[in-house]
Amino acid sequence: MRLAPLFFLPLLLQAQPMDPDFAKSVKAWTTKPEFISPLVDHLPLSTTVPSPKEILGHHIGAPKILTYYADMLKYYRALAAKSPRVRVIDIGKTDEGRESVVVVIADEATLRDIDTYRHYLAQLADPRQFTEQQAYEIIGKAKPIYHLMGGLHSGETGPAEMLMELAYRLATEDSRIVRSIRDHLIVTITPAADPDGRDRYVDWYYRYKIDETSEDDNMGGPPYWGKYIFHDDNRDINYSQLPMRNLLAWYLGWHPPIMHDLHESVPFLYTFSGQAPQEPGLDPILYGELPWFANFEMEQMTKYGMPGVWTHGYVDMWSPGYLGFMSSNHNGMLRMFETFGNGGANTMHRRIRPDTSGGGEALPGQASQGMAAREWYRPLPPYAEVDWSIRNNTNYMETGVLSGMQLAAAFPEIVLENFYKKSLHSIEAGKKEAPYGYVIPSDQPDETRIAMVVNILRLQGIEVGRALSEIKLKEGTFPARSLVIKRDQPYGRLAKILLEKQVYPDPQLRTYDDSAWTMGLMAHVKIVESADQAVLSVPTALIDRYDPAGKAITSPNVVAYVVPDQGSIRMATLRYRLKDVPVKVAEQASAAFPAGSYIFEANAFAKLKPAVESLGLTALPLDGQPTVPTHDVPLPRLAVYSTWGLTQDVGWVRYAFDYFEAPYDLIFKERAKKGNLRADYDVIVIPSQGGSGKSLVYDIAPKSKPLAYTKTDKFKFLGDYGSSDDITGGMGLEGAAEFRKFVEQGGVLITLGDASSFPDDYGIARTIESGRPSAQFYAPGPIVNAEILKQTNPIFYGYTDKMTSVRWANGPLLTVPRTDRGQILMQFPGGDTNVLSGLMRGSNEIRNRPAIVDVPVGKGKVILFATNPCYRWQNFGEFRMLFNAVLNYKNL
Ligand SMILES: [Zn+2]
Repeated sequence: MRLAPLFFLPLLLQAQPMDPDFAKSVKAWTTKPEFISPLVDHLPLSTTVPSPKEILGHHIGAPKILTYYADMLKYYRALAAKSPRVRVIDIGKTDEGRESVVVVIADEATLRDIDTYRHYLAQLADPRQFTEQQAYEIIGKAKPIYHLMGGLHSGETGPAEMLMELAYRLATEDSRIVRSIRDHLIVTITPAADPDGRDRYVDWYYRYKIDETSEDDNMGGPPYWGKYIFHDDNRDINYSQLPMRNLLAWYLGWHPPIMHDLHESVPFLYTFSGQAPQEPGLDPILYGELPWFANFEMEQMTKYGMPGVWTHGYVDMWSPGYLGFMSSNHNGMLRMFETFGNGGANTMHRRIRPDTSGGGEALPGQASQGMAAREWYRPLPPYAEVDWSIRNNTNYMETGVLSGMQLAAAFPEIVLENFYKKSLHSIEAGKKEAPYGYVIPSDQPDETRIAMVVNILRLQGIEVGRALSEIKLKEGTFPARSLVIKRDQPYGRLAKILLEKQVYPDPQLRTYDDSAWTMGLMAHVKIVESADQAVLSVPTALIDRYDPAGKAITSPNVVAYVVPDQGSIRMATLRYRLKDVPVKVAEQASAAFPAGSYIFEANAFAKLKPAVESLGLTALPLDGQPTVPTHDVPLPRLAVYSTWGLTQDVGWVRYAFDYFEAPYDLIFKERAKKGNLRADYDVIVIPSQGGSGKSLVYDIAPKSKPLAYTKTDKFKFLGDYGSSDDITGGMGLEGAAEFRKFVEQGGVLITLGDASSFPDDYGIARTIESGRPSAQFYAPGPIVNAEILKQTNPIFYGYTDKMTSVRWANGPLLTVPRTDRGQILMQFPGGDTNVLSGLMRGSNEIRNRPAIVDVPVGKGKVILFATNPCYRWQNFGEFRMLFNAVLNYKNL
């Protein structure tokens, strides 16, 4: 049998009527004949099912057209209304109230019976209830779900467009490949993973970017995508953001064995194959599957004559925090593409910069071609200079995705068998290999941070049980009600990955994101790893989630109440919720309570009781006034300063302040330049943003025209979370001088992470020098020890140990004059023994460097954090240092 002709004939000589207008249009929009494939150069005509053009008014990939989210939903709903092969399901709401949806596409019979198919996958995801023989019976009946996700990064505009055409094609086309996909797979689609950001970006595109013709007149992107964060929506390891959490909840109800995340960056199409450094805790089968698919796609597309399809040499498989990793973390398979994108729908002249990374390293004296270089993993490289259109991008991505699905449809039983085996192995690994489990002792004073950790594990589908009685293990004795995570469960591997110390495999390897994320160290929660197999048979009751019960106790002869400070971040929330109730904070510990505890008057009980109960805190009666020194806790008039160019790390701080209910003004260069900051604010926080004091001050370079970020009748999604008539130019020296005045006049300026070079660079804290580590130093977010030097400073209320774990934030290396060493509140001891998790190459360079410094200036002060005490939604153990600094601003 001659396979190849059979394979192509149905594609080339289909009896199905095709849309001649589509073929003509895409040919015209594709900038070179080799940038299209026989899989996507045609589109069926249907008399019953609406094509994208019928609903949107244009074919996908039309120049200078991007689709708003509501129109995308309109299209998918129209498709679902007319095609028995398509269904749209709602999975939740976004911050701005848009609907997150998943589109399901399958043949009619499968879709009618979709719950049965969901049930098969749920069974394979948890093989504890059946035999191997039964598993293969299920595999014989089941179909893999192949999930596709576009629009996670709003500036990467092509995938969300392409997916609409793909959905139509999958619903209508009768070619051999598409029929096979429909017969053997269930395809699900996230149309845009960040719906809020999609609309904001499309507005910005129509306002500013639609006239761009080349990289040289790039107007940049809008200040925001979604409400809080930009591309960190793909680093939200703890699923804090609503669209991310909606998707995870959907994932755990549907169990797609394959999840394919579509991005844009490098030329022309990079398909992820899971290169080193790799997470060794994931099933080795996965590391066979990834290059299997990536190589097939590369081979197919190269066969169609499409240059520039490659794999390897770009993104690694170390951090589990990328959104699509929810699938590999849960025994599925993550697929990921990067296609070449223009940040819009304009055809642009593009050059591959020779200094782009990803292989093609230049030999001495030889110019590197960067990603245009031929490599063993890039046998047909992309062109170094090219006119590129959004239709090219659509052709590449759609051909690649169809090829990936073609492979899955050719081997559905293998995909299902692997999914089953990976789930089974995860359970077996927990029985065979230490650690066998983790214990979170119940006798830790702050239950609220334990609850944060436990509820994140539960969000991830990890089973957590409460010990019914005392536990005795090799590692010690733990009280009843301690929380136990046994490893012999389907997501036992993920539990280990999240809870263990990260041992980086090779210090010479670089990684794309963080090298460490150990949850206990990040949250300052004691989590004991157990090498004792007995942990597997500890009697427990599984819990759904953990909400610590707060309590308020009163007594007849009460004269005051104390809320003991056990380190809960919710102590800050309590202060804000009871903002009209007088409170003092204990500056020292007494026999009855630690330093930092709140003392309320006896008549506060009626308000105190509901507040502590809902927050999981405790209020206790005192029968005498406390004798330790106290101070008032007035609420500061608080501002958070943001540049317009890098709002993301500010967004994480905003999210934390919003979550813990601390009100603040978000201010920009406009407010700084207006001057007299002291009249409005007591405390200003400058979150980490941008890397240097200079970029904080000068921000976005001026463009050929002002870039207004304002709401208008036409652009109603702009102007949220601040607005400006021109976001370029930064606060300048004028603004920097206002910050100096603010401090001199008695304000407290708190700088975080890399923003802590600003007070030195602009003469606000003149005695401090900020420097950078050497070029050999490499520390992608390890967790290190920090030593508290001034334990009695209010910043450390809630911290009982002298040595504490912090995330290395790549902040400046600060130097304090010898005579002012007393200003250092916390420092990094440095050295390899103080690297607790992840990689720090050159750990001696941070030896005894300040981590937090308190510098008095005029009537006020600057608190410089070389750490970032509010890093993503992750280092909860450090959050209190920031809240303490804010709430005790008068007593630092
Ligand atoms: Zn991206």
